[in-house]
Amino acid sequence: MEKDILNNSIDRSWIDQFDRPLTISGPCSAESEQQIMETAKKLDPVYVQIFRAGIWKPRTRPNNFEGIGKKGLRWLKKVKEDTGLMVSTEVANAEHVKLAKSFDIDVLWIGARSTASPFTIQEIADSLEGEEDKIILVKNPIHPDIELWIGALERLLSKGLKKLGVIHRGFYTYKTSKYRNQPNWNLLFNFRKILPRIPVICDPSHICGNKEGIFEIAEKAYRFRYDGLMIESHCDPDHAWSDAKQQITPVYLLNMLKKLTYITTTFDKKKDLYDFRVFIDEIDENIIHLLADRMKISKKLGFLKKSEDITIFQPNRWKSIMKKSIKLGKELGLSEKILEDIFQLLHKESINIQKD
Ligand code: PEP
Ligand code: MN
Repeated sequence: MEKDILNNSIDRSWIDQFDRPLTISGPCSAESEQQIMETAKKLDPVYVQIFRAGIWKPRTRPNNFEGIGKKGLRWLKKVKEDTGLMVSTEVANAEHVKLAKSFDIDVLWIGARSTASPFTIQEIADSLEGEEDKIILVKNPIHPDIELWIGALERLLSKGLKKLGVIHRGFYTYKTSKYRNQPNWNLLFNFRKILPRIPVICDPSHICGNKEGIFEIAEKAYRFRYDGLMIESHCDPDHAWSDAKQQITPVYLLNMLKKLTYITTTFDKKKDLYDFRVFIDEIDENIIHLLADRMKISKKLGFLKKSEDITIFQPNRWKSIMKKSIKLGKELGLSEKILEDIFQLLHKESINIQKD
């Protein structure tokens, strides 16, 4: 499918009905009727428009709490009747879709692990055929693959689903990071260039994996003019059955939302400056992580050379590193001088570490 056709087919009416950036909130998992009702009633409907709760939980390892199952859908229906909030849950197969439909759940989201699997997405899309009114939110796949993400939207659209949106919940990263899932603002920037009409929600809870970082991420999402936030909240976060570290109370959420300001101007030089600075910070962070990884390996190499009685400085190896790096850097448009300077410094530090 042409990306333009996909973009033009997206029906934004479901998000445009809200006059402020949208907030989706509620617990990671439904645990009991009491927990669901108490959390929902404590959320301020002026600030929160859609209630969320996971009914089936995709857990990385088996034998953790895997969700309350079908009976939780009854509780979600009750939230809708008692509070007037729209309700949402995650679906990961045709059976989930069938049950969610039978309980009239307004919004279905597709989790990061499911987006990564075309078979799963196809099964969900097939089971949604004829459900044009359902709002479907697709979380980013675990790994930063824009095409896979767009592919999921195409599969849904080809079954007539137009009320679509996406959720940026961060990406898996092998390197050490302060985030549970590394946000990638630059990738989202490119994604939105391809599909400018798609509503974009940010999920600071799954990006951070803790309560403390949520505000900063939510603030960035507002400054990038995302269409809304999905934030996990729980009436008793410390005793949550899943994702306890990242859930906040409804009161904490409300205070946070009141502090956030949304920039609505469409052209703003300061905003562009802000965008580029966030991308630069993101890249700098990555460079620092890579440097740390490089130095860790240098240290190991130091021990090995010592035990094998090998001289630390190997001129031929050094010349070949320099030559290879300058060649690659030049191909990428970098100046020879800067590459030489950086690699001299790196080499110097590496030698020092090995000597130590
Ligand atoms: C969730 O929203 O609770 C969840 C499991 O999210 P993700 O698919 O982003 O891991
Ligand atoms: Mn969760």
